[in-house]
Amino acid sequence: MPGASWGGIRFGNHALWQPKAASMSNHDGCPLLQRLVFTYTGHIIFTASSRMRASQLFLPTLKETPAEAELVSHQLLLRGGFIRRLASGLYTWLPLGLLVLRRVEAVVREEMERAGAQEILMPVVQPAELWQESGRWEMYGPELLRLKDRHQRDFCLGPTHEEVISDLARRELRSYRQLPINLYQIQTKFRDEIRPRFGLMRAREFLMKDAYSFHIDQASLQETYQAMYDAYSRVFARLGLEFRAVDADTGAIGGKASHEFHVLADSGEDAIVHCSACDYAANQELARSAPDPQSSAAPLPAERASTPGIRSVEAQAKQLGITPGQVVKTLLVMADDTPHLLLLRGDDELNLIKATHALDAQSLRLATAEETQDLLGIPFGFIGPKDLPVPVPILADHRALALHNFSTGANVVDEHWLNLNWERDLPRPPAADLRNVQAGDACPHCATGVLGIRRGIEVGHVFQLGTRYSEKLGVKVLNEAGKDQIVLMGCYGIGVSRIVAAAVEQNFDERGICWPAALAPFDVGIVAIQAKKSPAVLAAAAAMTAQLEAQGLRVLLDDRDERPGVQFATLDLIGLPHRLVISDKTLAQGVWEYRARRESDSRLLSEAEVVALLLGERA
Ligand code: ATP
Ligand code: MG
Repeated sequence: MPGASWGGIRFGNHALWQPKAASMSNHDGCPLLQRLVFTYTGHIIFTASSRMRASQLFLPTLKETPAEAELVSHQLLLRGGFIRRLASGLYTWLPLGLLVLRRVEAVVREEMERAGAQEILMPVVQPAELWQESGRWEMYGPELLRLKDRHQRDFCLGPTHEEVISDLARRELRSYRQLPINLYQIQTKFRDEIRPRFGLMRAREFLMKDAYSFHIDQASLQETYQAMYDAYSRVFARLGLEFRAVDADTGAIGGKASHEFHVLADSGEDAIVHCSACDYAANQELARSAPDPQSSAAPLPAERASTPGIRSVEAQAKQLGITPGQVVKTLLVMADDTPHLLLLRGDDELNLIKATHALDAQSLRLATAEETQDLLGIPFGFIGPKDLPVPVPILADHRALALHNFSTGANVVDEHWLNLNWERDLPRPPAADLRNVQAGDACPHCATGVLGIRRGIEVGHVFQLGTRYSEKLGVKVLNEAGKDQIVLMGCYGIGVSRIVAAAVEQNFDERGICWPAALAPFDVGIVAIQAKKSPAVLAAAAAMTAQLEAQGLRVLLDDRDERPGVQFATLDLIGLPHRLVISDKTLAQGVWEYRARRESDSRLLSEAEVVALLLGERA
């Protein structure tokens, strides 16, 4: 059908886009199946024909695994020709990668609109004054890339947009009647990460969806927070990802309620604690466990033991013939430069975030050997809570306080205590939760469950900010009583580009990526074997492409002049969910060879069966 007439896109009586006649047919005279999808948000997704033909697609695949890439997603996205590195933490999206990114965006957009959020687009470059008003110009540290304009005025590249949106809100919102309002954008962020790594996973420049909501009261904030939580759950479910929503620490942004959404994958940077029986799930930074039952061991007489050169808990336990769980270890920490002693059971690990909160500190670190020696006059390894040479405030973890007949340092070089008991031998210090939960602990929510730990990749985060920014920047409206009232805010982020990498971490095999259906750059790959030598094979493949595209499927036709093995390897590497093969032989038999990406065997199907199967899959 060379020269097919086609009217472009019309909206009412307006011609929005008129294609040039010359661009309507491609080199071999096949109809050019321009695919234009007009979404309800008014976005036009346009896929040019060159993308459908592998011979014309810019698809620079690599045979070898690039040495720079440690993580499988990074390796496969480079090898499959999805992305290319420009510099540390900076990536170019190649055609195939951009198709995947756009699919993530489309799902995110749909769910944001469904949740009542409205799309805007804010600048990347932000004036320093706003960050000075919020107090973050000082606080944010070197992750904030700062720059000056030609007038020597300070700016930064936006790592997030609380300041900018608050500025918009304080200028435009006047009355409680305009609330609640929820505004979002899908926009490039820049964070000068201390360790950019794993490709898209921790980049310096990355694509984020960030939304900000404004409310007159907590009930309204809670309602929108829940709507966004539900929208996030739908986004990750629709993308076909295995995920968990977990209670999260609010970290630097500040605020109250917060949940992180994690895609579960062994390579994840975060430890996610979850219950085997109920839906309790929390970031390790915050996770709790049920208290240990109090033991009723009979108190033994306290003894001092000689422990020359023994400094670690393990060595101490071994030397004294006890388990690390019978040791109370004493850690000297500096909380905002004030010394504190923290007590933990010997087999527990200190959770710095919990300790920071428990001490109401901004920062917390372990004291150095020199600081310990200077303050207490005793080296590391021999400190203990009994008979401290200098008074230092003490805080003890619940599990350390549940012990009987425990061992500690004796505040004397080369000596430890054995069989100490709280109250009898030393006062019981204030209690706090200071430890990392361990796999096998009892669930704090239900009576029956046991906690397990899995690795997760954070792909989304919802916060109730409260008045953290609105107070600093003066975002207020007239309330029902006609009085000025500071508004409450929520903020909601999704790592749009990180999702692309996280999806690969969950979906790959030894041959390459296995995209979930909702994320694949194309739904189907059609391999025309020896297309150059056999016009009939190419024509059949092109006709099938046209037929499937007419049904709304995204098809990549591999018409390259390559050996079949190379064609198959490429399709496996780039992870399209379905593969159809046509050759002189199958064409003569009137069948197609079909294989799903995750299956190892192919099947022979008639044309009608192929179409029914692929359309059925889509439904
Ligand atoms: P992380 O703990 O991974 O540094 P964050 O807490 O700094 O994340 P937020 O400020 O909540 O992240 O940003 C919202 C989302 O943006 C995150 O959930 C994550 O998916 C994504 N994101 C954050 N930093 C990066 C990055 N350097 N590269 C890619 N995506 C990122
Ligand atoms: Mg971060």
